Amino acid sequence: MTDATESSTKFQVYGARDLDQIPQLAGLDARQRLEMKAVAAVLPFRVNRYVVEALIDWSRAPDDPMYRLTFPQPGMLERADLERMVALLRRGAPASVLAERAREIQARLNPHPAGQQELNVPRLPSGRPLAGAQHKYAETVLFFPSQGQTCHAYCSYCFRWAQFVGLEELRFASSETTPLCEYLTANPGVSDVLLTGGDPMVMRAKLLRRYIEPLLAVESLQTVRVGTKAPAYWPQRFVTDSDADELLRLFEEVRAAGKHLAVMAHYTHPAELSTDIAQRALARIRGAGAVVRTQSPLLRGINDRAATWAALWRAQVRHGAVPYYMFVERDTGARRYFEVPLARALDVYNDAIRRCSGLARTARGPSMSAASGKVLIDGVAELRGERVFVLKFLQARDPAWVGRPFFARFDAGATWIDDLQPALGAREFFFEPEMRRIRDRARLRVLDAAGARAQLGAS
Ligand SMILES: *Cc1c(COP(=O)(O)O)cnc(C)c1O
Repeated sequence: MTDATESSTKFQVYGARDLDQIPQLAGLDARQRLEMKAVAAVLPFRVNRYVVEALIDWSRAPDDPMYRLTFPQPGMLERADLERMVALLRRGAPASVLAERAREIQARLNPHPAGQQELNVPRLPSGRPLAGAQHKYAETVLFFPSQGQTCHAYCSYCFRWAQFVGLEELRFASSETTPLCEYLTANPGVSDVLLTGGDPMVMRAKLLRRYIEPLLAVESLQTVRVGTKAPAYWPQRFVTDSDADELLRLFEEVRAAGKHLAVMAHYTHPAELSTDIAQRALARIRGAGAVVRTQSPLLRGINDRAATWAALWRAQVRHGAVPYYMFVERDTGARRYFEVPLARALDVYNDAIRRCSGLARTARGPSMSAASGKVLIDGVAELRGERVFVLKFLQARDPAWVGRPFFARFDAGATWIDDLQPALGAREFFFEPEMRRIRDRARLRVLDAAGARAQLGAS
């Protein structure tokens, strides 16, 4: 293992077309190979040699968590869809036919969850939408640099999978920072910009600098956040890549400009922190003055045991990272394969928290990123003879909702907020009337924009 870790300093990637080139898959029989290709024709697949050689324990595949995290599994598609795709591949159907079938399946996998495309569009003072950005919670704007819209490897459960199979045409991405800075200046209440993707760390340091430097001049901005899985999937980015030092200097400049750099690192399993290079990457990032905060969803077959989360959080604390969020698998893509009931997620969270010192208990969760906000499953209680989930918003579309407890009927099988019913005789959750108004307003804006375009066309 150490050999592979040390020698894999050159980034080498395998995509769906390269499955037959991965030596570790040589043992698969023809049927398994077809199934894997069938899934990879519908959902994104991309892995690199470091993950294959240093993180996956091939003696445990296909049950190995890092294998399940990165490789296509037959169970990720519904049986009938899998069989249809396998049959097409077996008879060598043309790519166009495969793509058409894949589109049908993809359309049924809720490719655009949580109303991201309509509800979170920031507007410049001129009324024009700010391209490549989302603004959902008051303090933080998300920005999608157009060259950062891929990753060093794809997670099999990725909630942004739709953009990696071309369903979104990178419609979220932007290569311009001037409008972003204009927006931030007009909205001084925004303290954080989160560069996200994809993974902004796939960019060369020079390019990343073009995005980060202009932000440092925005007085009201306090924190530059970078959402990334590079510390897990390609820690070489911070250690041995030819521009690793330049990247760390850029991090240092953020601090020198009086701002905070928060690396929001996606770590799913303790294996990702087990290699020497992964630990050195963390040390170097911290050495450059950044704080690493960590987050991941809870996933069946990958990290759905309390011992796994306790080990993950303890390893993070040991290496100086701050556990931040435990998410619930979102209602998109292969969610049926990875989802864990909310009640079980809560047990895993509480059990894991009990096994850690207070320094790891900064992790909040399990939390659902829903259209209305980040909804925490805070506990299970009995109220007036009814068993209920105690819920509260950690973040909300309307800041006034944050922190107010609300209750749903306990349901041992529920896996998402849409499965939950209000408890104690309520007809709806307290935020739903306001949420309807927010949706209506967004719909009106879309109609207005379409109307304005039609008028322009007519005149
Ligand atoms: C989670 C999230 C944020 C950041 O929320 P914090 O609680 O401040 O980390 C911002 N925007 C969106 C859309 C999010 O989902």
